[in-house]
Amino acid sequence: MMLTCKETTRLVSQGLDRELAFGERVALRVHLAICIGCRRTRRQMMFLRRAMRELVEIDLKAS
Ligand SMILES: [Zn+2]
Repeated sequence: MMLTCKETTRLVSQGLDRELAFGERVALRVHLAICIGCRRTRRQMMFLRRAMRELVEIDLKAS
């Protein structure tokens, strides 16, 4: 099963919020292995997610 870039982006996003099924993880890994664009997208999403979480934590500490 080959994912499109659109499907890959969706799975990467979902993977930040929930545990992916085994088949989804495999398909995602295969696509990321061959697609540099999606690797870059994934890195940016993970970076943004972490940055947002840190902002929330700073905000909670300040209040
Ligand atoms: Zn792709």
